[in-house]
Amino acid sequence: MRNAYLTIDDIPTANTEKLIDFLVSKNIKPVMFVWGERLERHTDKAIYALKHGAVLQNHSYSHPHFGELTFDQAVEEITRNEKLINSAYEAAGVKRPFKLFRFPFGDQGGENRQKLQNFLIQNNFAHLDDTSISVSDYTAAGCPEDQKNNRDVLWTFDFAEYNLRPGNDFSFNDVIKRIEDKFGTAENPAYPQPEADSKAKEIVLIHDHEETEEMHPGYFMEQINALLARGVRFVPPQVQGSTF
Ligand SMILES: [Zn+2]
Repeated sequence: MRNAYLTIDDIPTANTEKLIDFLVSKNIKPVMFVWGERLERHTDKAIYALKHGAVLQNHSYSHPHFGELTFDQAVEEITRNEKLINSAYEAAGVKRPFKLFRFPFGDQGGENRQKLQNFLIQNNFAHLDDTSISVSDYTAAGCPEDQKNNRDVLWTFDFAEYNLRPGNDFSFNDVIKRIEDKFGTAENPAYPQPEADSKAKEIVLIHDHEETEEMHPGYFMEQINALLARGVRFVPPQVQGSTF
């Protein structure tokens, strides 16, 4: 068994309701990182997600590489999306439980990296509770060694299914291989023992992309089902540090 958070990036899209219905049927409460421009286009989908128990959080307004922005531009990307997200919570009649932020592409802002971490702290962004996550699980996924000290949310497992694109040398078998490398097979799972505590030991990253749905219909359910079959148990998001 392996307890994990489910994080879904780049919502909302035309597919979001379908993903939510699936997650509700599995009793999984995800953190969904909102792309602000898409929220403006698909506000109803975001409200649907909120009304069905998803936690919506900030993934910037226009999904830029933060390393290419000035500090002021970076702050504007975050605050503009905050307003949209808070409006969606209001429209859904749901109280936002805490604030989280994930940088697009995991790009923590280049030379503004520390300033942006300070900004997140000063503005009461919380730290997803990763006390049971090891530094090596972060670094094996390409995250920095100091990630447990940072306020933004990265991941310990990335399906990388966004690489399924016309002309790309990447197939759904490559997604399955990534799953097996980390979690083993259904017959021989990598973590066969029951968990000693209920805390998450993984942050799983998947995307809500219409392009991927076109390439491999049903990819989202297939990938989540593959983890469930390997003893992964998705737990609701918990935070440490500041909340509202
Ligand atoms: Zn993204």
